[in-house]
Amino acid sequence: MSLFILSCSTTEPFTGYSYDPPDATDTRDKLTELQKKRTIGFGEPKIWISNEFNAARLNDAWLVKGRGEALDTIRVRIEPENAPINNSPWYGFKLWSDAPQEVILQLHYADARHRYVPKWTHKPESSIWQPIDSVSITAGAASMLLSIGPEVKWIAAHPTNANDFLGLTNYLEASGISDLVQSDTVGYSHGKRGIIEWKTQIEASTTAEEMSGSGLLLLFSRQHPPEVSGYRTFLHFYKRLHASDQLALQFREAFTILAYPMMNPDGVVEGHWRHNLKGIDLNRDWEYFRQPETRAIRDAVSPYAELDYSVVYGIDFHSTNENVFYPINEEVVTGIDNFTQRWFPFVAEANPALNFRSEEFEPNSPISKNWVYKTFGTDALTFEVDDELSEEAMKQLGESAAESLMTLLLEELKGQ
Ligand SMILES: [Zn+2]
Repeated sequence: MSLFILSCSTTEPFTGYSYDPPDATDTRDKLTELQKKRTIGFGEPKIWISNEFNAARLNDAWLVKGRGEALDTIRVRIEPENAPINNSPWYGFKLWSDAPQEVILQLHYADARHRYVPKWTHKPESSIWQPIDSVSITAGAASMLLSIGPEVKWIAAHPTNANDFLGLTNYLEASGISDLVQSDTVGYSHGKRGIIEWKTQIEASTTAEEMSGSGLLLLFSRQHPPEVSGYRTFLHFYKRLHASDQLALQFREAFTILAYPMMNPDGVVEGHWRHNLKGIDLNRDWEYFRQPETRAIRDAVSPYAELDYSVVYGIDFHSTNENVFYPINEEVVTGIDNFTQRWFPFVAEANPALNFRSEEFEPNSPISKNWVYKTFGTDALTFEVDDELSEEAMKQLGESAAESLMTLLLEELKGQ
């Protein structure tokens, strides 16, 4: 009975996941609205609020005089790039005042529920910001008490430094791995921002025969702008693959690593909730490739499918409200069959506090993982990281996952 249901579901056209808006799989260009970039001042002593930086999201702000209340209330309006859209309301702005004072800050969302714990810093270049714990949440809004003064406070859904795609080049340098990685631009977004490829190739030559007996690892990240924890975990994971210990050296002698770390640069820079500059969820465009970002990556990766790799595996990093693996259904036969199912216990056991679970899906939706399966005939995974994972936990997760993956993929290659 269950087999019958499974074989049935593979033939049903995919129309979207439960959390998708109705037209998510129609990836023809839609209208989006860019927020107006500006610095707004109000009150006495003057309060200032601004969205004039990359990854900011602030559509409007005004002062509400509370009736009989001692404190000023700043109401902030947060809107998506277009609608309908799923519930991932990103926000980011800087706030200061001419004299020290306490204020109430209210985030008001357009047709969305509060999702991300607000965080603040005086140093936006830092990857660790202070969470604002005492937030009271009502339908469509969140309020919190804040102390502000002449020193600028940056407030956002997640640290915005991780959002600065221009920082990617610096990341390779800062991680001491720039000599190992060839960084290229394989295409451009609607907003003319580069789609970056990081390649770590085992040899200069790429003929089919020479690749036989070796492996290929495909890594994708940041199709969805607010998913910073998946992106940060990817960066820690990636750095561990490029370490100088025996395991990583052995791995890089046997595997070519192709990574696309920032697939939606426009969405990230513009502070989008989910889409690219034309209002499209890029991770629903892997069938018709109507968007330049997905096309660039398809065209860069496709030639590798002509080469005779012995082992190929793909991972796409995302964030959601829990730590979860979305593998391809066990019943579907893939190259290195059920590899994700064999890898999962190692990741779960190395990170017991994260309560990892695994939920299988049919490979019938137009997402990058399924494109890897269809193009290479191999196994692939959507790796989802909890939205609010600490930097320390992301580092531990990324590094431990890289270690068990390298060990298992090397065993897999030996067994071929
Ligand atoms: Zn995502």
